[in-house]
Amino acid sequence: MLTSELIRTDLPNLVTSLPGPRAKAIIERDAAVLSPSYTRGYPLVVERGEGAIIEDVDGNRFLDFNAGIAVTSTGHCHPRVVAVIERQAARLIHMSGTDFYYENMVALAEKLASLAPGGGPRRVYFGNSGTEAIEAAIKLARYATGREKLIAFYGGFHGRTMGSLSLTASKSIQRKGFGSLLSGVFHAPYPNPYRCAPGQTPDECAMASIRFIEDQLFRTVAPPEDVAAIFVEPLQGEGGYVLPPKLFFDELQRIGSQYGILLVADEIQSGMGRTGKMWASDHVGFVPDILTSAKAIASGLPLSAVVARAELMTWPPGAHASTFGGNPVAIAAALATIDLLESELIRNASEMGDYICARMSKWPDRFRYVGDVRGRGLMLAVELVRDKQSKERAPDLRDRVVMDAFERGLLVLGAGQNVVRLCPPLVITRDQADFAMDTLEACLANLER
Ligand code: PLP
Repeated sequence: MLTSELIRTDLPNLVTSLPGPRAKAIIERDAAVLSPSYTRGYPLVVERGEGAIIEDVDGNRFLDFNAGIAVTSTGHCHPRVVAVIERQAARLIHMSGTDFYYENMVALAEKLASLAPGGGPRRVYFGNSGTEAIEAAIKLARYATGREKLIAFYGGFHGRTMGSLSLTASKSIQRKGFGSLLSGVFHAPYPNPYRCAPGQTPDECAMASIRFIEDQLFRTVAPPEDVAAIFVEPLQGEGGYVLPPKLFFDELQRIGSQYGILLVADEIQSGMGRTGKMWASDHVGFVPDILTSAKAIASGLPLSAVVARAELMTWPPGAHASTFGGNPVAIAAALATIDLLESELIRNASEMGDYICARMSKWPDRFRYVGDVRGRGLMLAVELVRDKQSKERAPDLRDRVVMDAFERGLLVLGAGQNVVRLCPPLVITRDQADFAMDTLEACLANLER
């Protein structure tokens, strides 16, 4: 019989039915006062977190393969991150970096500039959220080029404020009822190797997307001389963790230099070590003019950054700023986060990612409804299809896996229409990876019963 001493604290332990009584009561209160626009997949009411473990208000412990949606890369409440937050909060919480100077803001900008793909001088603008970084990048691209039009990709997600939403082309519910957005924004297909046309190779699929930009958009609605920037996720996140081949990024780079169009890499979900390198761009040698980062940058405190080639960021004082962007406490957390990423966590993400991928790679043969598994580092996906031949998407089966995993103590989320996404904290151990794989295998087998 298990005694409490024998229960492992690094693995899930469920002590009530789900949701438990305290969770149920809070969810009822929440339903009366919170915006119904939030998308809660299952009834998890969080009390505390440590590493990759989340405990709910009823004492149930879960293994977190969401990381607060790709945010808490250093694990929940990493002791070093907590210590620097406490130290900084006791010294200075706010002064507004838009109007005054403080040193850790400079130090983080220097660090991010040194980490940007491609090398060379960079300047950094700080905001609070992913969508703010995209808003800033839109304005900067327009200001720097004197051009107005923007290109983004279907399936892309860049945020939900009016400018970033104009680029987002993920789910129509995100736009429905909100009226007209920015004009001059056009979308092209994002190359999806799993969903190439019959007989097409991934490179041919990438070229089809490039031809769409040059032969359709440039010739009909978006003359290249009017295009300020192309916004692209180097590994599409909300769209279903899709990885185009390197050729796609080489060709975007060619288009950028041929037509003087800026390339913006949205690394808000894929960056900060998640893929086993600092940036997903690094896997494909993509060197953007502007890079956006948020989510994992400060281990859960609100912070975002726009890292641009220095000669582009020439906007004058007052052109763009934000009261809280670059808050000293968030900056301190970011410096500690990057330290942890560089010293051990990016390596762990790469090793654990390879380990998990090796196990998942057998799933399409083993499980009837798994069409594809893919990803880099700890940004991994399982795509569920009704039928492997037609590749018909199976959102209902995906939702069943997500809920079944929750009921077994594993937290995962969906992405795209029919994909289970795995984006755990980068601190996971081999035992935790095994638990997640065993659990998902049980859930996938369950679908076949
Ligand atoms: N860009 C990407 C690639 C994202 O994944 C997200 C959020 O999921 C955003 C932008 C928007 O970030 P935020 O929710 O912080 O506004």
